[in-house]
Amino acid sequence: MNHFGRTRVSLDELYKGILQHDRLMLSKAITIIESRRADDIAKSVELLDKIAPYTGGGVRIGITGVPGVGKSSFIETLGLRLANQNHRLAVLSVDPSSARTGGSILGDKTRMEKLSHHSNAFIRPSPAGNSLGGVHYKTRETILLCEAAGFDTIIVETVGVGQSETAVKDMVDCFLLLMLSGGGDELQGIKRGIMEMADIIAINKADGDNIKPAQRTRKMLQNAIHLFPPHDINWVVPVLLCSALQEEGITEIWKSVENFISTSKDEGFFKINRQTQNAYWFEQLVNEEIRRSYFDQERMNHYESIKAQIASNELGVRKGLQKLFGD
Ligand code: GDP
Repeated sequence: MNHFGRTRVSLDELYKGILQHDRLMLSKAITIIESRRADDIAKSVELLDKIAPYTGGGVRIGITGVPGVGKSSFIETLGLRLANQNHRLAVLSVDPSSARTGGSILGDKTRMEKLSHHSNAFIRPSPAGNSLGGVHYKTRETILLCEAAGFDTIIVETVGVGQSETAVKDMVDCFLLLMLSGGGDELQGIKRGIMEMADIIAINKADGDNIKPAQRTRKMLQNAIHLFPPHDINWVVPVLLCSALQEEGITEIWKSVENFISTSKDEGFFKINRQTQNAYWFEQLVNEEIRRSYFDQERMNHYESIKAQIASNELGVRKGLQKLFGD
């Protein structure tokens, strides 16, 4: 045991364990990937390299929507169905609020209670790093570990409040937006940009008295979608209705996901998209590394003081840049 109380396991044990679908080893590997200790970082690089041939086989689905829209209820209902059909399902939750404030929009309540006990499901909140980028690349690496551990369906859940959607969109094959019914300017805190990212839109809570308003919202969204820029593939974003609680409309949504994936594969986009995502991921890491290696404590202090002077109008932006990097 080390001083964190975590049993140290060898790279080989992790590697073999993951390929044997050992969930404990998978959990340990994710913890190592999330760690900032130098030896863990070295270990995770080796591990990711070793498992690489066994990755890529999962279907990666992003799910977003404002808090309260029913994401965890939806994932629980959909997930249980998939798990009962012998799919192996991993659910990773990305919560940008926990990175910035230590608090969490996704909440501490036990989410997806039944699903979390299913032997075919694996649920893991993504860690709160101190940068959004940090959270996201760890989520990407966690996706790879889950695929190597035999999970065929990976759901990456995030809160639809505008910070992390782009990052999640950039790591999945299909992006599903959950919305609520409502009128007029209700786009419910969902920014138009997020709607434009969606491959499928589902209006949840279409049950009881809410069915009629949900149908109206559906019409409105269908009209709005025609004004969006065209999709990368030949695809009209479907607007579907569902009730996670009544378990209605879930099959149709899953069919739509499958349909999207097969269209994307047929058109060659699926592969190109993943290649582009990888190249972009690399680019982001390089940017982070350049930043990290440049900013020692002294430079960081200098940078912060220049930034404060710029904010208080004591210094122009270009002058500040010159001051930071010299002539
Ligand atoms: P999240 O914050 O997006 O994960 O939302 P939750 O899944 O926690 O759901 C928020 C609230 O909405 C809970 O009280 C759920 O019971 C309720 N809810 C979720 N899905 C439905 C639905 O399909 N119909 C109705 N009527 N309520 C729902």
